[in-house]
Amino acid sequence: MLGAIEAGGTKFVCAVGDEKGTIIDRIQIPTTVPEETIPKVIEFFKQYSIKAIGVGSFGPIDVIKESPAYGFITSTPKPGWRDFPFVNKLQEAFSVPIGFNTDVNAAALGEAKFGAAKGLDSCLYITVGTGIGAGAIVQGKLLQGLSHPEMGHILVRRHPNDEYQGKCPYHHDCLEGLAAGPAIEARWGTKGDQLVDRLEVWDLEGYYLAQALMQFILILSPKKIILGGGVMKQQQVFTSLNRYLKEFLNEYVSLPELTDYIVSPGLGDNAGITGALMLAYQAFQEEFIH
Ligand code: ADP
Ligand code: ZN
Repeated sequence: MLGAIEAGGTKFVCAVGDEKGTIIDRIQIPTTVPEETIPKVIEFFKQYSIKAIGVGSFGPIDVIKESPAYGFITSTPKPGWRDFPFVNKLQEAFSVPIGFNTDVNAAALGEAKFGAAKGLDSCLYITVGTGIGAGAIVQGKLLQGLSHPEMGHILVRRHPNDEYQGKCPYHHDCLEGLAAGPAIEARWGTKGDQLVDRLEVWDLEGYYLAQALMQFILILSPKKIILGGGVMKQQQVFTSLNRYLKEFLNEYVSLPELTDYIVSPGLGDNAGITGALMLAYQAFQEEFIH
């Protein structure tokens, strides 16, 4: 039995399951402050005899094992969670190996193992929701350097008719600042799910996402691109994104049919929690097998 946590800005999903991705039990806990949320997480897992825990967390987080702040959520603006020692708190309650990575890296892992990129040694998972983030698997491993990638904050060329200043507190008009859910809401005055019939909204969304995907394709050459998150529930974004991407790339690289290449998560909303189970399994293997 393995434990998994998908820690999001609005809710925590906790699950127990196995290394085949089977989920046996799960709960959802609202993300309020650590003093309130974490005891509920612990209480849930205490019901089971778990051998390892995997965490896919909102971030930024410290994923470098040698770092003094390993296992911390670092510079989040979310009240109470800045510099929160996530792994340490779990370790105090459970003396089992703990795998810790970003929510999007977990989702990339879940999709590569059991979802839309099953059997591939390379894929890119991007979420377009409250923020924009991405996790990449390159040559069978999660891409990591000094830290985890932060692909949602790349700079994009502004649409000549777009006067919205951008919502990223760090960079204003980076990709997240122009194209995440809150930017859509601020630019058009209504939440995305109320803007279904406004073609210009999704055309512009495709314009920005296509630029980002072009960079990611040119740099990482992923074998599959998976787009999840609330905003991507608007299937029409895929259409405009594909059209712009074709135009921007101008046949410079040869790609599979875009409708097969750029897809929704095969695991649906379970990509992250399934990936967190995989992180738990990896942590278990590292501790007891290698
Ligand atoms: P989170 O990023 O917090 O994990 P989501 O992926 O659900 O959560 O993203 C939430 C964002 O996505 C919000 O800004 C919301 O307005 C937007 N969103 C959710 N559902 C839809 C939808 N059906 N169409 C367009 N935007 C949506
Ligand atoms: Zn930014």
